[in-house]
Amino acid sequence: MRYIADHDFHIHSTVSRCCKDENQTPETILQYAKENNFKKICLTNHFWDESVKSEAEWIEEHGYKYLTSVLPLPKAEGIDFLFGAELDMDYNFVLGISRERLNELDFVTVATTHMHLAGNSVRTKIMTPEEGAKIWLEKIRELLKKDLPFHKMGIAHMTCGHIMKEKTSEVIKLLKTEDLYEVFSDCAKKGMGIELNTKTIFNSEEEKDILMRPYYIAKDCGCKFYLGSDAHKVSALTSAKENFERIITILDLQETDKFVLQ
Ligand SMILES: [Zn+2]
Ligand SMILES: [Zn+2]
Repeated sequence: MRYIADHDFHIHSTVSRCCKDENQTPETILQYAKENNFKKICLTNHFWDESVKSEAEWIEEHGYKYLTSVLPLPKAEGIDFLFGAELDMDYNFVLGISRERLNELDFVTVATTHMHLAGNSVRTKIMTPEEGAKIWLEKIRELLKKDLPFHKMGIAHMTCGHIMKEKTSEVIKLLKTEDLYEVFSDCAKKGMGIELNTKTIFNSEEEKDILMRPYYIAKDCGCKFYLGSDAHKVSALTSAKENFERIITILDLQETDKFVLQ
């Protein structure tokens, strides 16, 4: 049975500093879920837990007080509106959340590819695709080494433009097949979800093959997938479902490939 697009586990609201659309409120997001017949959605604003020590400097407005300022979330019958966050990992591989706060959240999506944040998630600006590929792998490996509740965690936008803008596909191309099999086998074993982010954009068939390769390998390893619009504005919500269906078709995903959040 074809994978049903019945959820969205990566959505931002005005609490994220990069969200500039004042209409991107929890109420609007709930309405989006109703219109698309989603059963579960999760609000995942950017979050760096200020109780976690990091050499890097993080935005104060992404602290706990701001994250939780949207609570309580609005309700609608038949829709589970979950409360989560998008986490970062600093250049020393410190994950920006304490265990205590992780326990309070329903779900977290971990951005291992925010490689545009020099001085934070990467030490210095990424200069070459080789360097990008090295960090791409290291971040996932280091994340998987940690003792975490992986059943309620996902890896965000693995092939997004934050990696190296227009050179992102060059970075992904450099990832060795055996290394991808190694990390995704571990993901599958630990039960961590793989995000299908609607922002994975390709401009040609060749680029599509390059950017989709990690997902095909993840599928082959038995990884489970969830959908994430990563919407920061209302117009992105409007096109999300169509983009989800497109990715489901490309990867030929079935219901058995779905990451199920309990
Ligand atoms: Zn992100
Ligand atoms: Zn995001």
